Amino acid sequence: MTTTAEGGPALPQERRLVTEIPGPRSRELLARKQAAVPPGIGTTLPVFVTRAGGGVVVDADGNSLIDFGSGIAVTNVGNAAPHVVERVRRQVGDFTHTCFMITPYESYVAVCEKLNALTPGDHEKRTFLVNSGAEAVENAVKVARHATGRPAVVVFDHGYHGRTLLTMTLTAKNMPYKQGFGPFAPEVYRVPLAYPYRWPSGPENCAEEAAAQAIDMINKQIGAGNVAAVVIEPIAGEGGFIVPARGFLPKIQEFCRANGIVFIADEVQTGFARTGNLFACEDEGIVPDIITTAKGIAGGLPLAAVTGRADLLDAVHVGGLGGTYGGNPLACEAALGVLTAIEEEALVERAARIGEIMLPRLRSLQERFEIVGDVRGRGAMTAIELVTPGTKDPHPTAAAEIARRCHAEGLIVLTAGTYGNVLRFLPPLVIPEHLLEEGLTILEKVVAEI
Ligand SMILES: *Cc1c(COP(=O)(O)O)cnc(C)c1O
Repeated sequence: MTTTAEGGPALPQERRLVTEIPGPRSRELLARKQAAVPPGIGTTLPVFVTRAGGGVVVDADGNSLIDFGSGIAVTNVGNAAPHVVERVRRQVGDFTHTCFMITPYESYVAVCEKLNALTPGDHEKRTFLVNSGAEAVENAVKVARHATGRPAVVVFDHGYHGRTLLTMTLTAKNMPYKQGFGPFAPEVYRVPLAYPYRWPSGPENCAEEAAAQAIDMINKQIGAGNVAAVVIEPIAGEGGFIVPARGFLPKIQEFCRANGIVFIADEVQTGFARTGNLFACEDEGIVPDIITTAKGIAGGLPLAAVTGRADLLDAVHVGGLGGTYGGNPLACEAALGVLTAIEEEALVERAARIGEIMLPRLRSLQERFEIVGDVRGRGAMTAIELVTPGTKDPHPTAAAEIARRCHAEGLIVLTAGTYGNVLRFLPPLVIPEHLLEEGLTILEKVVAEI
């Protein structure tokens, strides 16, 4: 590796365990966390981080772990990526906030121009910036309701859209996201998703049948004319990296077009080169009316965006959108650095290459071990679904145990899925190949042990 943005020595790109995981220093910090932070804020892997970059995360005890999580698909360009660090450093010395709605600044506009140009479709677009994925989705729905004058919002099985009242309502899974937090927002309706592995009549029929069922439910139970928006992830993230059967997304989009329904693609997790395209919608040529982005947008600084058809976004009255911090200048500079890094380092191609390395090794794991029921994903967004051998019964305890053992070996992996039985892999796109291979070898060893 080269140097960091400050010109100091780069983080060694190696797995290095010098204590058990978590080590004594992390355990001390965990005790403080437990006394100061409510348990509702969970911890996947209780090592306290001191540095991170490339493909590693270094903890307070000096352990260096291989990162297959990217802070949930956020540090696509790597942690403390030089392009991000340089821009943020410069900005933090100039000014840290003015509120874009009070006295604007150029970087906000530059991010919006870039997103208008880079998101799918060459129609006229507008973008505005907010702080989180949930806030972006919530605002996309506000815009769609305002522009159409309709109340209903349609979402899908296994969907995840955030933790605010509206986005928690849009989210499918009860535990842990919704339990005890109701009553939920009105006028939200859920329809089937084309989940090939679990489609009752088999994956071949999945796209056709799931789309037909979804459309029939919209027509019969809601009335297409009452629907403001359909909100869908092009690959369901928290729901288990479910890639909808090919043909499903185009059918849903076609139905939306025909009925004046705003098609909102939630690309908060799939965006910014993660899937081997800049945006996952591109894979099937989907051009969303509105696209929401966050996570990978700014290398870890809090930023999110709503990008969409100019006629929809322009429908909202002056002052109807915004927020104190939306498009904070540090986060905007970070986003510009991310876009430069994606281009200069060819990270779209890197993501595709990561998929070419990971998917064959995961498939060979599936051939050898019946506990691996399904392997799926695109680019650097891949997963395995664990089942009781000989059945398709979800096996969440196996997923949890594999994750636990990977963590102990110094490999950060995350779980996901409606049934909690999916292990998902989201390495930074800049991870060196030797660490990617080493991480996969650890995973193979741990699955074999189970
Ligand atoms: C993470 C996520 C969100 C919520 O983003 P936050 O920044 O956590 O509010 C929304 N949609 C999808 C698809 C996500 O993965």
